[in-house]
Formats: sequence, C-alpha cells, structure tokens
Amino acid sequence: MTAETGRDGTTARRAELTANLARVRSRIAAACDAAGRDRGEVTMIAVSKTYPASDVLLLAGIGVSDVGENRDQEAAGKAAEVAAAGVAVRWHFVGQLQRNKCRSVVRYADLVHSVDSVRLAGALATAAHRGRDRPLDVLVQIGLDGDPRRGGAVAGDPDPDRGLDRVADAVAAADSLRLAGVMAVAPQGWPPDRAFGLLADLAAGLRRRFPEAVVISAGMSGDLESAIGHGATHVRVGSALLGMRSTLR
Ligand SMILES: *Cc1c(COP(=O)(O)O)cnc(C)c1O
Repeated sequence: MTAETGRDGTTARRAELTANLARVRSRIAAACDAAGRDRGEVTMIAVSKTYPASDVLLLAGIGVSDVGENRDQEAAGKAAEVAAAGVAVRWHFVGQLQRNKCRSVVRYADLVHSVDSVRLAGALATAAHRGRDRPLDVLVQIGLDGDPRRGGAVAGDPDPDRGLDRVADAVAAADSLRLAGVMAVAPQGWPPDRAFGLLADLAAGLRRRFPEAVVISAGMSGDLESAIGHGATHVRVGSALLGMRSTLR
C-alpha cells in the first residue's frame, strides 16, 4: 500500500479534500483581499449533504470547524456519528425546514439559516425551549426575488406570515431563539452582484433595528467571491470542497 492508496480509500480522500480545501481557502482569502476585508471576518461552512460522516471527520481533521446540512434525517444521523467519534464541529442547518422537524433539528444544530415564516419561527421557538438548555441562533432566510414558491421571507410583503420584518420580529421576540442575521441564495438568472448587493442592503436595514444581527450567510461554490465582496460573514461551500453531487440539491 502506498500513501496514495489506503485500503479503504481514506488516504486518497483525505488528500483530495486537503487540496480542495486549500483551493477554496485561497479563493476566500483573495476575495477578502479584493474587498479590503480581514480573512477572519469570513467563516467557511462545508456543506456535506449527500456525503458521508467519514468525510465530515476527515474535514474536521484538516481544520474545518463548521459543517452544513439541508435535510434533517441525513443531518441528525451524521451529527450523531461525528459526535460518537468524539469530534466536535458546529452544525449549520441550511435547508428548507418543515415544522415537524424542528424538534429534531434543535438537538444538534448550532445555527439554523432558513427561518422564513412566522409560523416556522414559532415552531422552532417551542422546540428550542423544550429541547435545549441555551438559545438557538437563527438567521432569517430572505427570498430576494420575492417569489413565494421559492421560499424565503420577503421584504415589504404584506403577508403576515412571510414579511421579512414580521419574521425577524417573531424570532427576536422568542426567548429560546437569538436573531443572528440573514441568509440568502442568489436567485436563478440573477447576476450574483445584484443578489448580494440587495441582500447587503436588507441586512443593513435589519441591523438598524437589531444591532446584534450581524451574520450574512451568502455565497456558495460558484459565487462566493461576489458574496464576500458584498459583506458575507459566512459562505456555504459544497461541491468545490467535496465534489460534484450526483443529485441536484
Ligand atoms: C447545497 C447548498 C449549498 C452548497 O452549494 P454548492 O454549490 O455545492 O457549493 C449552499 N447553500 C445551500 C442552502 C445549499 O442547499
């Protein structure tokens, strides 16, 4: 056995992840330099959906501290496996969240990025109150194109369940939740600079009312440079780190 071909492929996978991580880190560093920002202002979240817990353990072993998942069932299993291995990472829930999954998510998640309705905020608050001994950090997910079918709270929307201000107020009012900031995905067909520029404006508006809501979760494998240029504090990187997924999610 050479160093490149461990019997179970672990050595090769570690080398692949190490090389990918170096590439992503240098992209983040270059984007911070270009924006005149300190590298320490940006947290990279490794989005491990569809990849096994063994990859999370390898990533943790090479210095990744933050991991993202978008489905509760998959995330809960992986979080348990990683914890059983004695490894601590911060878990980010970044996907669409159903109210009946809140009870599970509050047990392992450190930051939920995807609260986009007053009803979901209420369900998460109840679950966090019962299932945690400290408040859960929450981001309000914003639908930048205003299309209700695509998810996300919408700025100025008169819908009492979906308006951005109403959702933010509902999170901020819950003792078991802490409003930490905003999250968005660039809408299909929008130039990233347009999407993340709008997100920066909306985030600034929210900070005027909630000064502690400083997180801007924006930017993925394809557009993290633009997001960092517009103030992202957290980038969510999947395929550039772990490889292309066979399913589109
Ligand atoms: C999958 C996913 C990502 C990562 O996407 P990549 O393009 O693979 O980097 C980021 N954010 C969310 C919400 C996701 O579902």
